[in-house]
Amino acid sequence: MSVILVINSGSSSLKYQLIDMDAERTLATGLIERIGRGESAATHTVRHPSSRSDAAAETFRVDADVPDHDVAFARMLDAFAEHGPSLDANPPIAVGHRVVQGGARFFEPTIVTDRVKRDIEELEELAPLHNPANLAGITAAERAFPGVPHVAIFDTAFHQTLPPAAYTYAIDADVAEKYRVRRYGFHGTSHKYVSEQAALIVGRPLAELRQLVLHLGNGASITAVDGGRSVETSMGLTPLEGLVMGTRSGDIDPAVLFHLHRRAGLDVDELDSLLNKRSGLLGLAGTNDVRDVLERRAAGDAAATLAFDVYVHRIKGYVGAYFAQLGGVDVISFTAGVGENAAPVRAESLSGLERLGILIDAERNESASREARVISTDDSEVTVLVIPTNEELEIARQTLAIVEG
Ligand code: ADP
Repeated sequence: MSVILVINSGSSSLKYQLIDMDAERTLATGLIERIGRGESAATHTVRHPSSRSDAAAETFRVDADVPDHDVAFARMLDAFAEHGPSLDANPPIAVGHRVVQGGARFFEPTIVTDRVKRDIEELEELAPLHNPANLAGITAAERAFPGVPHVAIFDTAFHQTLPPAAYTYAIDADVAEKYRVRRYGFHGTSHKYVSEQAALIVGRPLAELRQLVLHLGNGASITAVDGGRSVETSMGLTPLEGLVMGTRSGDIDPAVLFHLHRRAGLDVDELDSLLNKRSGLLGLAGTNDVRDVLERRAAGDAAATLAFDVYVHRIKGYVGAYFAQLGGVDVISFTAGVGENAAPVRAESLSGLERLGILIDAERNESASREARVISTDDSEVTVLVIPTNEELEIARQTLAIVEG
């Protein structure tokens, strides 16, 4: 059995998934939160053999104080030993790590070496919140699993095919080059996975399809995929650009920052926190959870209604822009927490676009399901899909591919 362990190490959390790649079946998942912040919380979920459904899973809470990532890995090993499945019976043949920022240096899955770790560290200036946490996870995992290859999978990698016209900011070229200021794009693992699934669902070669992938989670981005290659994406130097998100503003006139600095006296850290942590749906409606926004909107709440309207207005603008960039679209896919679950967001984002060949079937759109499905009408020129993303499986696939050579 080829078992891969997938690690997503954040600044204060560790997510893991153990996957049997022969059947592409998840054996266990886990989440350790509030690392280094006292009173950590951990869960470990074991999937029962022969079942894909969540119903057949059992979740264990693991109380533990977890001061750092090394201890987090020790707790993870304890959870496997105590609740199963046994790592002795299912030893991982490799560990796949999510790394957020690969810069212009990493465009494919990469076996971790000392050199690669130095390069990931060197990219910290572009992703000060993410890359150090990813690296801490890699280092701790190497200690926990010394005998197997560790593979880094970069969120930016799928977007390395962006043409210069799409990734270049129109600022002083020397400044941009010196400080590596350009658009990198994120959520690449999800956009790649979903665009490949979409081709399978519509039963046409990936190479022939012009696609839009709308990854709407707490973070959100849209990517134009032409023949399987990312050619335009809404996130930029950092994940702040583009769509309205749970707590991020997305696109904004940069002069708002000068204005707030000069008029309100906000310094750079306060502005960073304002736009990344206190804006988006949270800033407009006081909650970053689309479920709450939808409920309050249905009850007539004005702030929630405006937040919803701003959110879908931005998506629709991007859909139109990317239609123009691609010269036409065959498939649009919605994915991630909001994209997979929020029928009103899907309906409103694509409403009134009949002239673009987009016709949503209301009943299909509203039927709740965890499966990938078509939500456009049979005579819609553009096929609209809902596809559950699976970044962990995609990381495991890429990890397996590289260790198998
Ligand atoms: P992350 O970007 O953190 O990985 P997810 O893709 O899990 O996020 O998306 C999380 C978001 O999905 C939540 O903040 C919530 O707004 C939204 N969401 C989850 N379930 C639903 C639902 N049933 N209806 C509407 N929105 C939902």
